[in-house]
Amino acid sequence: MKALVYTGPKGLDYRDVPDPTVGAGDHLIRIAQVGICGSDMHAYLGHDARRPAPLILGHEAAGLIEGGPRDGARVTINPLVTCGTCPACREGRDNLCPTRQIISMPPREGGFAELVTMPESNLIAVPDNVPLTKAALAEPIACGWHTVRLSLETLIGARDTALVLGGGAIGLGAALSLKAQGVSNVTIVEPNPVRRAHLIDQCGQPAIAETPDGTLYDLVIDGVGYAATRAVASAATRPGGVIGHIGLGEDTGGLDIRRLTLQEITFIGTYTYTAEDFRQTAQAIFDGRLGPLDWAEVRPLSEGAAAFSDIRSGAVAAPKILLQPETAPERS
Ligand SMILES: [Zn+2]
Ligand SMILES: [Zn+2]
Repeated sequence: MKALVYTGPKGLDYRDVPDPTVGAGDHLIRIAQVGICGSDMHAYLGHDARRPAPLILGHEAAGLIEGGPRDGARVTINPLVTCGTCPACREGRDNLCPTRQIISMPPREGGFAELVTMPESNLIAVPDNVPLTKAALAEPIACGWHTVRLSLETLIGARDTALVLGGGAIGLGAALSLKAQGVSNVTIVEPNPVRRAHLIDQCGQPAIAETPDGTLYDLVIDGVGYAATRAVASAATRPGGVIGHIGLGEDTGGLDIRRLTLQEITFIGTYTYTAEDFRQTAQAIFDGRLGPLDWAEVRPLSEGAAAFSDIRSGAVAAPKILLQPETAPERS
């Protein structure tokens, strides 16, 4: 099969690789579309020791089961494989499973390819009337869905206003999840003017260049995770409010612990999603509760290297690029 192989810092090579071998209990999936994630970019730049070259990246995929009793079934892929038996898995916090695996990280190859293998329990059936280009957005949106769910479970009192820092797919997914989970007034902060215009014009989201001084929000979601954005989150959350933190930009800095303490602001770190969050997100996509989801840009997998460099240079307006193999069963 053809795959986009990460070959070392800033190296991506579109080339022939052996087809994956299907393990017991796994399905072979023919990829329709697969999204480029911030974590793929991180690995591409050589900043992720957990993803050594050579490796097929990509974990946001939808496609068709190939072969076996469910041949031809349309599915979206939950890329997190967990054990199901440890205390975290048994408590429904399977995203914290100590032996979790994700496709695109050894030992599992990723989805920037024509084919990938996944266990049955990681596949969610997609209704016939939902395009796979929308179903492929379940993974990035599920991250925001999870953050919003945990934040709302913690938040006491008013839950009318939210600020989302970062207007990429994570921030946009969080904004859409906030609306779907009942928060009516959601504002996105996105400094990149190209991306901000796209959020307003194509995604119908209120997006602004920077957080207005003095305005306080019930909930602030940091989809970026730099010291600078944590400083903004610390200042913009109302007394008793909640900061939901997703971004992995910088490890430390920015939090105003004194204000968080004096104003009893809760900070929640969140990572990926539970299997239940993923199912709920997929269902919300299928029901139309997350809007038209027509904001992703589809490009050929063979031109994946150019897509990475375009994202890096800030030239891409769309919050998500989906790569499409030549053998994609449902082309967009
Ligand atoms: Zn992702
Ligand atoms: Zn487990």
